[in-house]
Amino acid sequence: MGKIILTGDRPTGRLHIGHYVGSLRRRVEMQNSGEFEKIYIMIADAQALTDNAEHPEKVRQNIMEVALDYLSVGLNPAKTTILIQSQIPELTELTFYYSDLVTVSRLQRNPTVKSEIQMRNFEASIPVGFFTYPISQAADITAFKATTVPVGEDQEPMLEQAREIVRKFNAVYGETLVEPAIALPENETCRRLPGIDGKAKMSKSLGNCIYLSDPAEKVWEKVHDMYTDPDHIKVTDPGKVEGNVVFTYLDAFVKADSFEKFLPEYANLDELKDHYRKGGVGDMKIKKFLNAVLDDELAPIRERRHYWEARIPEVYDILKAGTEEAEKVAASTLTDVKRAMKIDYFNDPDWIAEQEAKFAK
Ligand code: ATP
Ligand code: MG
Repeated sequence: MGKIILTGDRPTGRLHIGHYVGSLRRRVEMQNSGEFEKIYIMIADAQALTDNAEHPEKVRQNIMEVALDYLSVGLNPAKTTILIQSQIPELTELTFYYSDLVTVSRLQRNPTVKSEIQMRNFEASIPVGFFTYPISQAADITAFKATTVPVGEDQEPMLEQAREIVRKFNAVYGETLVEPAIALPENETCRRLPGIDGKAKMSKSLGNCIYLSDPAEKVWEKVHDMYTDPDHIKVTDPGKVEGNVVFTYLDAFVKADSFEKFLPEYANLDELKDHYRKGGVGDMKIKKFLNAVLDDELAPIRERRHYWEARIPEVYDILKAGTEEAEKVAASTLTDVKRAMKIDYFNDPDWIAEQEAKFAK
């Protein structure tokens, strides 16, 4: 069987450059590599509602924003199926059955959910749906028989949980589900891009993002105000590179030709870092360089976004067609699951015969 991708994003805001380096860029490369039999990209609105139950309008409005972000980074609906999670009831049904295979204490151990609970001040009032979203994510992944899940590092515990569910299901009910593998970015900085405030993770919920759809002036404003090294006051002062967000973003975004194009006096990032460490490089210089590198990457994305923004009914059709196609696949997996669990009574002639024999005595 060929390799299949499933991944997605919560429609809780527009997508940012953390999503881009953590997952989106990789998805587009994978899409264009021709190595994958099928690619499913999901707008996880049902998951977004698990911690936004009181903000349905926010989720509803961000569906189209996320779809536009997908199309603008180069996901191509001719090669990739884009779907909306809540419109596929089979995913909810799978979640319900998988819940029987997971313990509360196992969910409590999930470090990403733990830190997300803290971040949202949910300690005393965690919605059950939020607490159990790793199970629903396992349903999403397995419904499409995904082999490969390109995501950032925060998703590692979710993938581990999904693999455990698959193993447990197959052990109890017979070989049915496919065990997925995580595809983390090779570049370590990209696995968890920090926010512009230097906080551990750029995240829609923390409001520390550079959005893919930010206009060029907005990006420059954010880069300009970035925190560097508080002890690097004069240009001649030695500077710290570690923990300096400008360098972290350069690590994530510099390409082979970036120096030649925008800062030819240095051959590569190591040379620039060395000079900054010794002293003699001003913060404005590295910020201008970062801004040029980012703009090089973001300008074509912005342009494609404008193209699609003028074609919203077409985007609607893409979402509808993708969701309909995806539902067929999820329905077929659900049929397999129910057969394996022996709860497909009305499609199971053995069950009738068995019951008949039992009562004939
Ligand atoms: P929310 O705050 O609503 O959870 P988010 O910004 O964390 O939003 P998600 O929709 O949860 O975004 O994540 C979508 C994908 O992007 C996941 O694969 C996740 O690993 C990846 N991702 C999110 N933030 C980052 C980041 N800062 N660095 C690298 N990858 C990221
Ligand atoms: Mg998240």
